[in-house]
Amino acid sequence: MADGGAEGPAAVCGPERPGAGGLALLGLAPSAPSCPHGPALLFVKTGQGGGGGRRFYACSACRDRKDCNFFQWEDEKVSETRLAAREEYNRNHQPPFTHRQNVERYKSFVLLPLSERRFCQECQQLLLPAEWEKHSNHQFLCDISTAQLKSPSQLLYPLENKKTNAQYLFTDRSCQFLLDLIIDLGFKRVLSVGTPRLHEMIQSKASQEEDFRVRSLLLDIDFRYSQFYTEDEFCHYNMFNHYFFGGEAACETCRKFLYQDKGERVIMVTDPPFGGLVEALASSFKKLMAMWKETEKEGHKNQEMPMFWIFPYFFESRILEFFPSFNMMDYQVDYDNHALYKHGKTGRRQSPVRIFTNLTPSMIVLPVEEGYRFCAICQRYVSSGNQHCEICNSCTSKDGRRWKHCVLCKKCVKPSWFHCNNCNCCTLQNHACEKTDAGCFVCGKAGHKRSSCPSLSRTRTACQTDEKQRQKTVKRVKMGICKISAMKRAIFSRKKLKNNKKKKM
Ligand code: SAH
Ligand code: ZN
Ligand code: ZN
Ligand code: ZN
Ligand code: ZN
Repeated sequence: MADGGAEGPAAVCGPERPGAGGLALLGLAPSAPSCPHGPALLFVKTGQGGGGGRRFYACSACRDRKDCNFFQWEDEKVSETRLAAREEYNRNHQPPFTHRQNVERYKSFVLLPLSERRFCQECQQLLLPAEWEKHSNHQFLCDISTAQLKSPSQLLYPLENKKTNAQYLFTDRSCQFLLDLIIDLGFKRVLSVGTPRLHEMIQSKASQEEDFRVRSLLLDIDFRYSQFYTEDEFCHYNMFNHYFFGGEAACETCRKFLYQDKGERVIMVTDPPFGGLVEALASSFKKLMAMWKETEKEGHKNQEMPMFWIFPYFFESRILEFFPSFNMMDYQVDYDNHALYKHGKTGRRQSPVRIFTNLTPSMIVLPVEEGYRFCAICQRYVSSGNQHCEICNSCTSKDGRRWKHCVLCKKCVKPSWFHCNNCNCCTLQNHACEKTDAGCFVCGKAGHKRSSCPSLSRTRTACQTDEKQRQKTVKRVKMGICKISAMKRAIFSRKKLKNNKKKKM
C-alpha cells in the first residue's frame, strides 16, 4: 500500500523540507547523525524524471515532525556548536529515569501497602509516596494491585499518536491464539518485538503456572514498560534502526536470550506500526536474525530464526520482497482498541491484519471453530470464504472474501472486479480507462500505462489495487483503528498521483 518509492517520514513534510515528490529510503548509513531515537535514516527525494535528488537524514522512528524534527542534509556542514547543542538535546530528551532506576523504584513500589500504591495517569508513572506532592494536580489511580502491575498494557494508556506510535493491542482471543500456537509449535522463548501484550501474557503465565516454561523478552520503543520489567525482560529498542537505547549491555541481553540453550527453540513475534517503512523494519529484523544465527555454534546453518511478522495483507508483496521464504497466513488478527475490528458472534468485521511466517504453512493450525479449514492441496489452513481455484491451483483470496478467476488475466481477482478490454485487465466497473497513447501519468512517457510503469515497479501493487475497496478500507481505518498511518500516506501518495495526473492533462 504505502510504498518505498512514495513514502517517507512525515517529518519531512513541512514547507522548508523537501516537498512533494517521492521519497526513497536509502537506509542506515554508517556515519549517520543521531536524534533522541538513535541513528537517523538516510532518505533521498526522488524527482519526477528519476535521477538522484538531494539526500538527507531524518528521524527513523517519528513520522510526525512534531514528535521529532530531526533533519539534516547529507552534505550539510554541521558546526561544532550545533553538534554540541544536538548532543545536549539528545541527552535532555531521554526519559527522566533510567531503566535501572525504574527497576529499583518498582522494588520499592511492591513493598508499599495497597493504599499507598499510586499510578499517575498524566505522567504514566508509578509514584512513590515522596513524589505524591509533585503530582498532586494530576489524575492518579490508587490501590494498584499486583494483578494490575502484571498487566501494564491495561494500566498504561495505549499511545495514540497516529503517526509515530499508535499502539494497537491484541484482543485476548488473538493473543491467546498466538501463544497457543507458539506452545503447540514447541517454542520455549519468544522475542517479542513491539508485542507488549503477548509478552505480558507470557510473563504472567510464567509467574502463575508452575509448569509453564515459555519465556519472553520484550523489545519496544515504549519506555514506560521499563517500570514493570527488569533488564532481562525488556529492552528499550527502536525497530526502525535496530537501536538499543541501553547500549551494548542491552544488546547483549538480547543476544543471550536468543542463544538456544538445551534445544529451547526461539521464535520472534513482531507487530510493528503499519505506517512503518517496510525496508527499515526488514533490515532490523535481518539483524536480529543474524544475531540469532551467530549464537548458533553449529547446526542451523541454513536456517532462519522462526518469525511471525504481523502486518496487513496488502503489504504481502513488500514483505516477500525482503523475506522470500515467508508465507502469509489467513488468520485475521484483531485488536482491542480497534473499534471496528472486533470479533463478534454475528459475523465480524474483517481485519486486514495477517501473520507472515517462515515456518511451514501446514504447521500453522488455524481454529476450525472460527471457520478456518485445511486445504489439502495448498497444505495450509485458509479462511472459510477462501475457495480453492482449480485453474490457479491455490486458495487465492487475500481478504477472506471469495475471489473469482479471470481467464483473460489468468488469475483470481476480487469479487467486485470485472475484466475491462480497454485496459486489458480486471478492475473496478466504474474506473477511468487508461489510454496507452495518453502516456503514463506516473512518468509521462508514452508506451505504457501507470500500472506497468518501470519507475514505479515497487508501487505497482498499490496502483493495481481495487481503488474503491481501498478507499473503503482507508475510511474504516481512519474511523478508529488507525495503527495504519500507512493508510494516510497511501491517500497522500494517491493524491500526489492524482495531482500529477492533473498536471499532465
Ligand atoms: N498488538 C501488539 C501491539 C502492537 S502496537 C500487542 O498487543 O502486544 C505496536 C507496538 O510497537 C507498540 O507496542 C509500540 O510501542 C511499538 N513500537 C512503535 N514504534 C516502535 C519502534 N520504532 N521501535 C520499537 N517498537 C515500536
Ligand atoms: Zn527522532
Ligand atoms: Zn487450497
Ligand atoms: Zn484463479
Ligand atoms: Zn481480467
